Amino acid sequence: MVTGMARTLIAGNWKMNGSKDSVAEFEAMISQLEDLPEVADCLVCPPAILLPLFNEVARGRIRLGGQTCHSEMCGAFTGDLSAEVLAEFGASHVIVGHSERRSMHGETDEIVASQALAAERAGLVPIICVGESLPEREAGLALNIVARQLANSIPNFEKEDQAFVVAYEPIWAIGTGEVATPPQIAEVHGEMRRLLIERFGDRAASIPLLYGGSMKPGNAAEILSIPDVNGGLIGGASLKASDFMAIYAAASAAD
Ligand code: PEP
Repeated sequence: MVTGMARTLIAGNWKMNGSKDSVAEFEAMISQLEDLPEVADCLVCPPAILLPLFNEVARGRIRLGGQTCHSEMCGAFTGDLSAEVLAEFGASHVIVGHSERRSMHGETDEIVASQALAAERAGLVPIICVGESLPEREAGLALNIVARQLANSIPNFEKEDQAFVVAYEPIWAIGTGEVATPPQIAEVHGEMRRLLIERFGDRAASIPLLYGGSMKPGNAAEILSIPDVNGGLIGGASLKASDFMAIYAAASAAD
């Protein structure tokens, strides 16, 4: 990764939604995107089994990602997928440490760090998710939690210039319709940038910091114009081409 301003990334996390038929929605996204100025990178992370289908039609303008990966390259890990196989089927990125993985699959900061290293090994860009729960925010601990997650979930990569992305996703804003306020987002993103500069020096300026949590066409422009917000990780609103592309267009406006 070169130093300089972080490039904006609009990323969709489809979670366990979509089927073979969803390739039509994905194609609609690609054709709508072709009418928009190229001011940001655009990524869709469908269920991994759909990657090969999506990859056949992706035409490069929308990149593809996985939603998690195992830390090992192969072995007796029933149901898991390696970063290598995601890359083989068209992924350029992989989300690691999403709060749903942390809470429902017991993924700790240490596991997330090992997944991020696996991503590096496979040539993928990890999107490392952090974010506090509602009780943690109400107890005034949001910054402490995010700082702990950042320190422990971002590994010491093998390559000094390994590209990675950080997504701040307050758990209480995910899928709830409740969005963190601009001052709350600005405070956490500012602190994340400060901590990343402390650890990585000048190159921290080029690490994209995404906000995630009920981002929609109606609130995207405001969120994307907050300092140190370099894009979004979008769940529900990334499933429909018109909504997802309206968010991408808001990134153009905020540019
Ligand atoms: C997410 O799960 O990463 C997310 C941000 O979901 P939503 O946009 O639906 O809140």
